[in-house]
Amino acid sequence: MNRKKRIIILGATGSVGTTVLGEIVRFREQFEIVGISCHSNIERAETIIRDFSVRAVTVTDPKISVPKNICGTVFRGTDGLSAMVESLEYDALVVSMAGVDGLRSVLRAIERGKTIILASKEILVIAGEMVMSLAKAKGVAILPLDSEHNAIFQCTRGDNRFIKRLWLTASGGKFWDQDLQTIGRATVAEVLRHPKWSMGKKITVDSSTMANKGLEIIETMHLFDVEPAQIEVAIHPSCTVHSLVEFCDGSFLAQMSPASMKYAARYCLFYPERVDVQEQSLDLFRLDELQFFRPDLEKFPCLKWAMEVASSKQSKRIAYNAANEVAVTLFLEEKITLGAIPEIIWNALSKVEDKNYATVEEILAVDQMARSRAKQLARRFF
Ligand code: MG
Repeated sequence: MNRKKRIIILGATGSVGTTVLGEIVRFREQFEIVGISCHSNIERAETIIRDFSVRAVTVTDPKISVPKNICGTVFRGTDGLSAMVESLEYDALVVSMAGVDGLRSVLRAIERGKTIILASKEILVIAGEMVMSLAKAKGVAILPLDSEHNAIFQCTRGDNRFIKRLWLTASGGKFWDQDLQTIGRATVAEVLRHPKWSMGKKITVDSSTMANKGLEIIETMHLFDVEPAQIEVAIHPSCTVHSLVEFCDGSFLAQMSPASMKYAARYCLFYPERVDVQEQSLDLFRLDELQFFRPDLEKFPCLKWAMEVASSKQSKRIAYNAANEVAVTLFLEEKITLGAIPEIIWNALSKVEDKNYATVEEILAVDQMARSRAKQLARRFF
């Protein structure tokens, strides 16, 4: 028998991390978890460390006190993430933490030639050129865990030569067929009840403003080396087709499965093989209609601006992502309306000149600046 695949999971206690762990439990004789990270959920981290005999942990929240003997090696803070990724021996790094804190770790792991299983779309949004060119130079596979990109990757299997267009499907969230006023006034409780997917809070809000699809457009452009004009978005409320590839010879390939991250996680964990699960996931005779609708860009300005930002330089992508994150936090704190999120993004974008950056230090500094600027701009909305 082959030896076990050794895995590090950054963001092991979050929603995606939990899904990945669920798949590892199911096939546990084939995997070994050598390291995990969590932000502040130390109880959950302790359970994972015990259940999987994990030898190293990074706790990123400096306010959390970590029990002695929690595990063999303990790293602290965001710097601890890259120290862990640098020092352990493993085959694949799963990046399932929200936000951009995993950027340095991803770069370190690529330099060491490790496979990256990537769920944190923000990392590609702010530093896509850097991550993808380093991966190409080192011959490292970036396996997308985001369901749409995973679907496209399953169709192309890493060969981007014959792509004409990529069709990202979107659930449309809760409000895609409602009027602008209803969307603008939606409460936190309404927004968090997503009709199809069970996900973290931030991404559920992003789904209802379609900023999530906006970020995914930028992610797509980097992952599959296509121009923004080659990317289309189609609202597909039944969430069965997770995206499609239109090839230059007129053929389309689509990937289908139930709306759960576990299929993407399973594909990435076993890539380039496929595991035999001996179960029927979809019943074709009971499927909802496979309908696709063009998104209304006037109703979803976050989507419209993401398309423009995708064709601009890095400074705009950083500003878009930072302003959205700041605005979503304020919405979840019930300080602003859902309708204020696109307005805050628009204000943030209008003040940024087009610029690219060469170093990770610059990117992270610009990201910090964009966040403070967005926080200031947002003040007049509450
Ligand atoms: Mg997605």
